[in-house]
Amino acid sequence: MNNTITESLTVMPIARKDDIYVLRLCLNQGLMTPGMLRRVLEVIEKYNLPSLRATTGQRMNLEGIPAGKLDEICDFLGTRVEKCAPGATVCPGKGTCRLGIQETTDLGNAIVELVKQNGPYPYKVKSGVSGCKMSCGLSYVRDIGLVATAKGWNVFFGGCALQNAAPGVLIGEHVSSDNALALLQKALVFYRENGEKRERTAATVTRLGKQALLDAVNA
Ligand code: SF4
Repeated sequence: MNNTITESLTVMPIARKDDIYVLRLCLNQGLMTPGMLRRVLEVIEKYNLPSLRATTGQRMNLEGIPAGKLDEICDFLGTRVEKCAPGATVCPGKGTCRLGIQETTDLGNAIVELVKQNGPYPYKVKSGVSGCKMSCGLSYVRDIGLVATAKGWNVFFGGCALQNAAPGVLIGEHVSSDNALALLQKALVFYRENGEKRERTAATVTRLGKQALLDAVNA
């Protein structure tokens, strides 16, 4: 392995207070290559930045960036964007975790693509994929949630992690990856066509009733 090569990142500036910014590193499934880590470490040392913090969405925030250094640091790290592309919280799954029943990485990527293709939506759509019922991908309380079973996937839609936290509606039980994606495609269309502006999936399902969602995905 070449220990000198660094890799560029996609970054999203977020204003905090007192002219201080964080830079959100737009990672996929929380993965950073050694080359990305080297570039981040270089910038931390060069600008004497205080910390790098993990987010619940498996991204990283580079903290404590003075407004006057923001452009320079963005250029150094790679590509600056207004908003990170939607991601998914995806646990390591069977390939890495001894409790894992199913692989998670490819399905996580397929869900990100599905969400992208069926938008725009009334509000944000967060996804979680977990390789077993321990749900390290927060699947029960994401808008889209998948939990591996011995026979396939349990599929949830409309979960919520806000003050009225509750698991999503079970729209598929022990289904294949392809069937899970087909059900979710219909659920996303249901949300896109029926959700009100800035209404999360859980609120849409509560307002219209769980049966309306089930009818839409089983049509
Ligand atoms: S959800 Fe299960 S498979 Fe995934 S990391 Fe947690 S324990 Fe492991």
